[in-house]
Amino acid sequence: MSKYIIVTGGVVSSLGKGITAASLGRLLINRGLKVMVQKLDPYINVDPGTMSPYQHGEVFVTDDGTETDLDIGHYERFLDISCNKNCNYTSGKIYSSIIAKERAGEYLGKTIQVVPHVTNEIKEKIKSVGSPDTDVVIVEIGGTVGDIEGLAFLEAVRQLRIEVGSENLLFLHVALLPYLEAAHEVKTKTAQTSVKELTRIGIQPDILVCRTNSGIEITNEMKEKLSMFCNLRSPECVIHNSDASCLYEVPLLLQKEGLDRIVCKQLKLKTPKANMSDWKKMVAHIVKKKPEISVAIVGKYTECADAYISVTESLKHAGLANDVDVKVKLINSVDVEEQGAETLLQGVKGIVVPGGFGTRGIEGKIEACRFARENNIPYLGLCLGMQISVIEFARNVLKMEGANSAEIDPKTKYNVIDIMEDQKFIHEKGGTMRLGSYPCELVKGTKAREAYGTSHIEERHRHRYEFNNKFKDKFEKAGMIASGINKKRNLVEIVEVSANKFHVASQFHPEFKSHPYRSHPLFSGFIKACKD
Ligand code: GLN
Repeated sequence: MSKYIIVTGGVVSSLGKGITAASLGRLLINRGLKVMVQKLDPYINVDPGTMSPYQHGEVFVTDDGTETDLDIGHYERFLDISCNKNCNYTSGKIYSSIIAKERAGEYLGKTIQVVPHVTNEIKEKIKSVGSPDTDVVIVEIGGTVGDIEGLAFLEAVRQLRIEVGSENLLFLHVALLPYLEAAHEVKTKTAQTSVKELTRIGIQPDILVCRTNSGIEITNEMKEKLSMFCNLRSPECVIHNSDASCLYEVPLLLQKEGLDRIVCKQLKLKTPKANMSDWKKMVAHIVKKKPEISVAIVGKYTECADAYISVTESLKHAGLANDVDVKVKLINSVDVEEQGAETLLQGVKGIVVPGGFGTRGIEGKIEACRFARENNIPYLGLCLGMQISVIEFARNVLKMEGANSAEIDPKTKYNVIDIMEDQKFIHEKGGTMRLGSYPCELVKGTKAREAYGTSHIEERHRHRYEFNNKFKDKFEKAGMIASGINKKRNLVEIVEVSANKFHVASQFHPEFKSHPYRSHPLFSGFIKACKD
């Protein structure tokens, strides 16, 4: 049977619960354990797929085509596992499965209630995520303790602990300790209060992870006090988690604090110490001073850096692979429309146009792409960024005036990007795009094939529109070639401008498959070109 670690958060959101959970997962894996993860999000949307990036940050897509919370991305990057549809549940998804059962008459006339029906459903989903050989399942509950929405989830895990026993389920609570400038003091009351909130509903945390800003010390005295007032077994159950110089340093900081040791002790998991020497080397490489190169991401959600988190991470991984420090400049495509690419993109060594939906900022992205192509500045297009490169090429090289995507201009004469056949009659918005992993064959002698070093790849998708094959010959004759094809459906998956150093754009999202120590080939190839 798998053991469970339930991670909750207190005081404020954005505490980095996901990073704490992912870091703990990495430490447990390096102790030789098989780990799986799950994120439970208390909001009502069935998944984050229909939410604005301003609300939710990036939507991360798994191989099986589930649109998930961005924390799933952290889990994949930290743990090097492939997540699936069981790894992320929202209240909406839980409720829709209950309502479907109710409509099918499966509850045999009973009144359906939060307790036990919703809580049972949640417990079932928690149990569904591990496989028979999973040693530990880490379950992160989104939101903050005390939120009304989160109550059913907390009640479910309270019950689960009784069912499986305290040797098999551990509660880990992450709380903020603020530093009061005027008093020159770190305060522990916030953590005490949020633990009290948890105990009020019957959950006694076993481990308290205290988040502080960097440079703040938590003394042994404070640990003793927190342990005493939060009713913990011993001060060693209080773990300090300060801001780190980079995300990937967090597992090392938590190991120093003894987090994985205390977790294994409580869960009676007998393992050797985690060997983190390779991870340490990787972190040392990340923080080492390297030559800097500046790369622009031209998107429209730039006020919200979380909207592009996998793209930014992938660029940094590719920096590591090429021994450079990639400085990411988030540039708003609406500003490019107003101030011009020549002004805003001057001096950058590479340009990325990431994914996106809708009309706003499109022309700015096209301008950024033109600027890259005409000046032979490396360009990487991701999903919408691929469609942009096709539109740009159509307008400026093939002189198809007004060429566009049918998403932006449904009446355009040159619909170089058009809606997929099977999407034409779908009206429901949620979960209906072309989602998840699809195979793609790479064409010999192309930049894409060179970057991947192989001819068959599988990459993750999230889009409705695609390259219009009607125009393919024209494009290829003029120098934009299709270098990746989905053979089964004859879909263009990658395009590139042969004459340029690196002008490659994919209909899929390579950023969902990059790892810190195994940079994605397209990102590595792109950064290599930027560096040259
Ligand atoms: N809006 C475009 C489409 O649906 C691109 C989507 C994306 O970038 N993820 O095809």
